[in-house]
Parts: sequence; C-alpha cells; structure tokens
Amino acid sequence: MTLPIINLDRTRSYPPRVSEFTHRFWSSLREGLFETTSCRDCARTTFPPKPFCPHCWSKNLTWIPLGGRGRLYSQTVIHAAPAVFRAETPYRVGIVDLDEGLRIATRIIADNAPDLDTPVEIVVLRYVDGPLFAARPLTA
Ligand SMILES: [Zn+2]
Repeated sequence: MTLPIINLDRTRSYPPRVSEFTHRFWSSLREGLFETTSCRDCARTTFPPKPFCPHCWSKNLTWIPLGGRGRLYSQTVIHAAPAVFRAETPYRVGIVDLDEGLRIATRIIADNAPDLDTPVEIVVLRYVDGPLFAARPLTA
C-alpha cells in the first residue's frame, strides 16, 4: 500500500542521519512505502527498523511493508521547541499504535486536537531534501 504524499517546498528542519542500513527505509518512504524490519527467528516486528532483533538478538531479519494505518494513543502540542524546530511552533506530536501492533512517535497533522483512539493514517512529507513521515486523522 502506498502512503499519501504531501509535497513541501522547503528543506527538513532536522534531517535524519541516513546510514547504510537505514537508506532503504528512507528511499522507500520517499516513494510512499512505509517499511520496517521483522525477525525471521521470532517473527516479531520492530520500528524503527533495526539491523538486529531487539527481542531475541537475531540478525536474521527481513524487510516488510507496513499498512500505514493505526489509532492515536496520545498527543500534545509543542510550544517551546528546540532551536531547529522553533520556526515550526506550535506543532503537534503524538504516539500512534499501528495496526501491526507497533507503537511509534510521530508528528501529527491536525488543526485541532484529535480525540484519542482516532483512526489515523501515515503520510509522507516529501521535502525538497528528502522525506519524513507524519500521521493525520483518517477522514471517513
Ligand atoms: Zn527475534
């Protein structure tokens, strides 16, 4: 499943460091694919993707696609931000429980505070220098 893509005409305020391992995640995200790693030995999935399994320490991992849907577990608005994000304040961040059972922290795109447990979708924020992801409430 391909995520909705929102094109933004500026650079990211704090670009992630891309390693040889995470390059796949970021290049897939740019194309609208939300992926992570799953362990072939214990079958557990983690996010963010990791080069080893944090549950059984196996390095026998595979990449799997995530559906990009979940529910809002928690959210807040940041008014006092680190210097690099100050120009973006106020902005909303939250914790999302993905349908796959993963709990992730992410930027939330919503003008008003969504109710907790609101269904959300992950979207790609495609900046001119690379992608980030965020969640927004699913509208029927
Ligand atoms: Zn494992």
